[in-house]
Amino acid sequence: MPQRVLIVGAGFAGMWAALSAARALDLAGRSAGSLEIVVVAPEPYLHVRPRLYESDAASMKAPLLDLFAAVGVRFHQGTVEAIDTGARTILTRDAKGTTSSLGYDRLVLASGSRLFRPSIPGLDEFAFSVDQTDEAVALDLHLRALAKRPASVSRNTVVVAGGGFTGIEIVAEIPTRLRSFLGVDAAIRAVVVEQADAIGPDLGPGPRPVIENALDAAGVERRLGAAVTSIGRDFIALSNGETIATQTVIWTAGARAQALTAQVPGQRDRFGRLQVDRDLRVPDAKNVFAAGDVACAATDDVGNVASMSCQHAMALGRSAGHNAVQDLLGLPLRPYTQVKYVTCVDLGPWGAVYTEGWERTVMLTGKEAKDLKRQINSLWIYPPPADRAAIFDAADPARLVVA
Ligand SMILES: Cc1cc2nc3c(=O)[nH]c(=O)nc-3n(C[C@H](O)[C@H](O)[C@H](O)COP(=O)(O)OP(=O)(O)OC[C@H]3O[C@@H](n4cnc5c(N)ncnc54)[C@H](O)[C@@H]3O)c2cc1C
Repeated sequence: MPQRVLIVGAGFAGMWAALSAARALDLAGRSAGSLEIVVVAPEPYLHVRPRLYESDAASMKAPLLDLFAAVGVRFHQGTVEAIDTGARTILTRDAKGTTSSLGYDRLVLASGSRLFRPSIPGLDEFAFSVDQTDEAVALDLHLRALAKRPASVSRNTVVVAGGGFTGIEIVAEIPTRLRSFLGVDAAIRAVVVEQADAIGPDLGPGPRPVIENALDAAGVERRLGAAVTSIGRDFIALSNGETIATQTVIWTAGARAQALTAQVPGQRDRFGRLQVDRDLRVPDAKNVFAAGDVACAATDDVGNVASMSCQHAMALGRSAGHNAVQDLLGLPLRPYTQVKYVTCVDLGPWGAVYTEGWERTVMLTGKEAKDLKRQINSLWIYPPPADRAAIFDAADPARLVVA
């Protein structure tokens, strides 16, 4: 029986963990016959979540089978329901309901995150979201279908709940998208509601004036210091007493690590992410590594911690996959480090804002930043070509990632 590195999830972290694990195996001169790398996920596609605020969400995925085949990674289609770190097994269920148990020698947990939906009346029933592909597709269909409804203020109004990174990107894009369905002359209203007293509370004061400028140019109204209290079929009510007539509420506030993290012994942060050491190992579960949105990992020696971002997930995946194989082979591990940190926020037709550093110093704005954002979204975050040499070059954990 070959030894096995099992990777749960085929997102940014899972895909790069698999490719990097295959690279480490190759560098060690070992064949897939003696150590197999298996990815378990519901679908053999990379869902490009950072693009789900754009239109045509259904096309935002990239196939993975040829990529994995090029480097000898096996794909097992299914959803992991249970992890037993004592027995070193996982339980998976496929689309037909058939369960199977798979053993592992090292596990890389990379099952991502989910939008957090607090208990607000009407939220589950009426609010749309752009967190997962199917949710963004449902929003797309709804926006297209609005054109068939009788014209009204509520039909022409979209309210985005949450003024963070995702909320800003979607609300900046919405007026153009709505006009493409309702007509260029339609009286469109786009509103963003944010509980904090400033837009983009986590983005800090650096890029804020640029963001405010862009939202003003798009005619986006802001409700700051206001929480959502209830949502109905054609309204949203706020804690400031205001009720806005709308048939489209998009919930964007908050993310939580995927629920499998609760099945691994260890400490978790307030987002449910597993605390990992510098090698990305879960200290209380020695054979388990975590990467991407499920991992709370230090990025440097001065106290910065990986954010739930594609930028960090890609690099975390590369390091975790590499280390899982090295550990199994008794070879030296490579501590994860990612000192460079950037953000690039799409601001709709106005452009974008690109910042560098954790203090988010604005480096590019408008069209220049938008060109960079397009490059990131259409090139940098997609899988490499299904060519062994190109994959191994791209999967080097020493590679810098900017997304
Ligand atoms: C609208 C939007 C915009 C964003 N914009 C940006 C941006 O501009 N820049 C940036 O850096 N980040 C951005 N992000 C965040 C980024 O998409 C995530 O941080 C990133 O996808 C995390 O990668 P991951 O591999 O950890 O998880 P995911 O990409 O979520 O992948 C998780 C994988 O695990 C699988 N999985 C889940 N549960 C199970 C299970 N039980 N069993 C088996 N497999 C499972 C999933 O199917 C998937 O394959 C954005 C996110 C959204 C939603």
